[in-house]
Amino acid sequence: MSRFPFKNLEKYKVGGSGDTMHLAMPAPVTPKGKILRRCPQDDCQPALFQLGDGSGTHPRPGKCVRTPGTPGTTCPYCGHSGADSEFAAEEDIAAALAEVKWAAAKDIQDALNDMAKKFNRGQKRGSLISMKMTTQHRHLPRPVAYREDLLRDLACDCCGRQYGVFAIALHCPDCAAPNLLTHFKRETELIDLQLALSETARSDGNAELSHRLLGNAHEDVLTAFETYLKVAYSHLVYKSSGSRPKAQKNRFQNVGRAKAAFAEIGLDPFNALTDAELEALSENIEKRHVVGHNLGLIDDHFVNVMEEGEAGKTLEISSTEVAAFAIQCGQVVGRLDEALPVPV
Ligand SMILES: [Zn+2]
Repeated sequence: MSRFPFKNLEKYKVGGSGDTMHLAMPAPVTPKGKILRRCPQDDCQPALFQLGDGSGTHPRPGKCVRTPGTPGTTCPYCGHSGADSEFAAEEDIAAALAEVKWAAAKDIQDALNDMAKKFNRGQKRGSLISMKMTTQHRHLPRPVAYREDLLRDLACDCCGRQYGVFAIALHCPDCAAPNLLTHFKRETELIDLQLALSETARSDGNAELSHRLLGNAHEDVLTAFETYLKVAYSHLVYKSSGSRPKAQKNRFQNVGRAKAAFAEIGLDPFNALTDAELEALSENIEKRHVVGHNLGLIDDHFVNVMEEGEAGKTLEISSTEVAAFAIQCGQVVGRLDEALPVPV
């Protein structure tokens, strides 16, 4: 180690002696300053998440399972908890190895160049025999590890830790608190923005666009709701039985079938609603066929099931109704959030 000045490599030196150098490489960060983490569980999907700054507020510290900022990580998708080192991402390990290889090669190349220059300077001018040492200079491009932020980027509403996931998650990776409702609140925020766009279109005189945006927002509430029910159900079954349930097909597209599914695991998240709210929720779910699949046109099936409206006419839908629908869905998701098992 003492033969070459490892200028580049030694920037990462944290210890070691003799022929051994201990290095520590900082993980590549996303534009928002997050690092990659990967759940080590074989059956966890999508496993990849991102961890950001921990200096946020702590709005609900009482819900934290683990003290924020202390050692330990929890997978936001499957709830597996373990040492921070278990969650090192393969991509980061590969990036660190690439950087070490580059730094070592660059240092050796620089050292050989210096040796050659020194040797050549030491040659006597005018002597009968002269020697010149040359080295083959190769361009060594430095590897660059580029990281993109995941689309769903939020902060745990218990400890304030920023993190990124693919669309939905169950737990905070830092404090392990249940975060299913935190994610659904983000869905509600997006819905509110869509409703605001619809209102803007209406006030601009574009009623047709306004109606289309409203319909899309209604459809998005339902899509999000079904996804949250499905993800929570799958997780709860997995945690109680050790195996994942089979594909659930359309099991969560109807209140009766969804209630039956959760009853199998002793839960009734719909009891978060009053009878009137549950009825309104069920009606909104029935409206999907018309709003999402029939350009808003009432058909005979809708008239038969709902006992309202006139076939062939456009279904009236209001932003107040869509906002209330999102709130009712959030109440059901809140019950599931409370029912999530504590990660271990
Ligand atoms: Zn947290």
